[in-house]
Amino acid sequence: MADPTSPERQAATIAAQAAGAMDAQTGGVVPGVHRATTFARDADYAPLNPDNIYLRSHNENVRQAERVLSALEGAAETLLFPSGMAAVAAVFRTVPNGATVLVQRQIYWGTTQWIGHFCARRGIELVEVEASDKAKLKAACVDHRPTLVWVETPSNPWLRITDIAAAAEAAHGVGALLVVDSTAATPVLSQPLRFGADIVMHSATKGINGHSDVLAGALATRKPDAEVWQAIVLDRNTGGAVLDPQAAWLLLRGMRTLPLRMAQTCRTTQALAEFLVDHPRVEAVLYPGLPDHPGHALAARQMPNGFGGLMSFVVRGGAQAALQVAGRLELFHRATSLGGVESLVEHRHTIEPHTGIPEGLLRVSVGIEDAGDLRDDLAQALGQ
Ligand code: PLP
Repeated sequence: MADPTSPERQAATIAAQAAGAMDAQTGGVVPGVHRATTFARDADYAPLNPDNIYLRSHNENVRQAERVLSALEGAAETLLFPSGMAAVAAVFRTVPNGATVLVQRQIYWGTTQWIGHFCARRGIELVEVEASDKAKLKAACVDHRPTLVWVETPSNPWLRITDIAAAAEAAHGVGALLVVDSTAATPVLSQPLRFGADIVMHSATKGINGHSDVLAGALATRKPDAEVWQAIVLDRNTGGAVLDPQAAWLLLRGMRTLPLRMAQTCRTTQALAEFLVDHPRVEAVLYPGLPDHPGHALAARQMPNGFGGLMSFVVRGGAQAALQVAGRLELFHRATSLGGVESLVEHRHTIEPHTGIPEGLLRVSVGIEDAGDLRDDLAQALGQ
């Protein structure tokens, strides 16, 4: 069979054909779910299949989903985890006690919170920096000489864009590793490894799965022989932060439509951003697809296929006004998370009141519903 993962194949082909995953036993065009936790040996004690010994280390459904992600991301190897946070933790567990890490400020608050606790426990110096300002990021690298630099682009929920190539240069200049949380972009819109990131991280719970029914995380690299990657591989196998086969199967199914979903969501989000930016009740719209967004030109280079489905906007009148708008929305579910086929809205100040988030900010995750229906819903909720 022709290899659907060969470099000349486009993302839509790789995804739709699940990088060639089929059911070899039955000929089914969709692979089966392999739930076995252990795998037999023959009378001479040789494994019947040398790739399979025990589920914590080896599972075909997990490998199939990892192959799709590697092909989409331009990675040599991908590792799946049972959540995005488990993937974040796997990276930080490689940092030696007493080292320094540089982390972008005002990123996903759960990441910031976990890293803060972890660093305090392990005696790791945590330096937070506005990484979308490349001069500040470079100066912080020179001043603090970190072991690890962690950025998130586009950032959640501020939608700041960090220059990955510049961050890689700054990190590598002081011998640090660059890790990019690319959750909001998905591998369809941006491939940080191509810009020099050492590891790319995703909450696959979001756009990659896309159906709000799987919790998963991923790490991918072009340097599988690197010491740090080998440490992560060993830690996952022995520490046991592995994805369940059923979840991996669902993820593989979700990813088949990833390019299609992202194309639709990008088109709709752009249209909604343009509608909101002219609305008298809206103070600001944070979306990199808008020409006056400070990261627009960079995002156009780094995310050539679109600006994503995550957008924030600030309602005039503060928290009360924003909560009223959220309460009046009929199509956007009032729920956390992002990247699903259904649109969501969240009043972030309710969730993270001490991170500097504007009180009137609503974050929306735009799904694949009809763009006109979503615009009409926003219009009625804003009272016009
Ligand atoms: N990174 C980003 C940007 C996120 O938005 C999230 C979750 O919202 C995470 C990481 C954590 O992922 P998970 O919820 O799958 O553990």
